[in-house]
Amino acid sequence: MDLNLNGHYSFWTDRIQEYHEVKIMVKPDKQKEFEDHLTSEGVKIKMVVDDVQKLVDATLKRPKVNRLNNNYAWEYYQTLDEINEWLENIVSEHSDIASIVNIGTTFEGRDIKGVKIDFMKRDKPVIGFLEGGIHSREWISPATMTWVINEFLTSSNPDIRSMAENVVWYIFPVVNPDGYEYSFTNNRMWRKNRNTEHFTSCAATNVADDLSNGVDLNRNFGFQWNTVGVSPDPCSLVFPGGSPNSELETLSIINFVYQLQQEGTLIYYLAFHSFSQMVLIPYSHVEKGDVLEVPNYGDLHEIIIKAMDKLTARHNTTYVVGTSKEILYETSGGSFDWARGVADIPIVYLYELRDLGAYGFLLPPEQIISNNEEVMDSLVELDRVTRQLNYYRSNGYVLKFNALIILAVLFVGYLR
Ligand SMILES: [Zn+2]
Repeated sequence: MDLNLNGHYSFWTDRIQEYHEVKIMVKPDKQKEFEDHLTSEGVKIKMVVDDVQKLVDATLKRPKVNRLNNNYAWEYYQTLDEINEWLENIVSEHSDIASIVNIGTTFEGRDIKGVKIDFMKRDKPVIGFLEGGIHSREWISPATMTWVINEFLTSSNPDIRSMAENVVWYIFPVVNPDGYEYSFTNNRMWRKNRNTEHFTSCAATNVADDLSNGVDLNRNFGFQWNTVGVSPDPCSLVFPGGSPNSELETLSIINFVYQLQQEGTLIYYLAFHSFSQMVLIPYSHVEKGDVLEVPNYGDLHEIIIKAMDKLTARHNTTYVVGTSKEILYETSGGSFDWARGVADIPIVYLYELRDLGAYGFLLPPEQIISNNEEVMDSLVELDRVTRQLNYYRSNGYVLKFNALIILAVLFVGYLR
């Protein structure tokens, strides 16, 4: 269907599929024309947000009292500078176990900063990597990451303590800092990075030319790159870049993951997005029997089902689990799929945090804490079940050992 409304609308849904719901933002003076047009085309419409600016203002709300930054209490969304200052503060308060890690520089020259948390100082430890803020408008993701850092460093809950202390954690609240900053200063709905090398006129797609200044980092990773769920048009929200791993942010993550695999046993790669209340299991281009392309799919499914029971138990929030193709849309080039398919990290998921779309990316700040609490509960259970399934032992060793037995059996067969 043609939506020729001359740039007066904008899609909130990343990928448009036939017979699926889409969310479209419309300028108030075009609302009637838009509704009449859709109705005449036989499209069912429903107003979900009547004043977007009001929601944007709410997500930009600041505390009335100007409190010290290190007293941040998750009652508003922090800017990039505030997050970085908060990281510096909490690390300096726990300098025996925590340190700032800088894994690279972005297109606009910002550092990609995270925190390393290492209680035990073991040689060749079990390692976990948490990725936040790869899509800049998904502000609840960095707010979840800072919460997890704070819990690991300060919680007295024995289950959280055990999880924090038995793994060396690398947590990156904002792996796309250029985009995150831009979503505060220029365009609240910014998703991609800010690479300008593909700049072009976006007149044909009826969107602002500035939308071509960016690559979707979560379509840029070198696994099934540029195969499904992407667009070659730089004006698209799902433009995967000029080549696999072309972006500085992507390369920084990839190089760091390989470095961690030298340091110890990297068993977790968890990516945090919004919105939909889902946890995606790799790979995003498979469904049905093909899910078994992931050798430990059964374990991944079992772990996350148990983790979601704990998530729901906290505030009765329900999440759906499955591959992206099964429950969201078919896609490719995502960091978590790369982590499982290329880097061979065993326990890999993508969280799509709150909500189901009532507020979408503009999740009111009043929901940050309850979101964080339920996610933390799920992570504790995820880690408990993962440990129970023996993933803390070098999984690579177990797999290689199995391969040896199979080889031996084959060899015996050959001798006969
Ligand atoms: Zn996302």
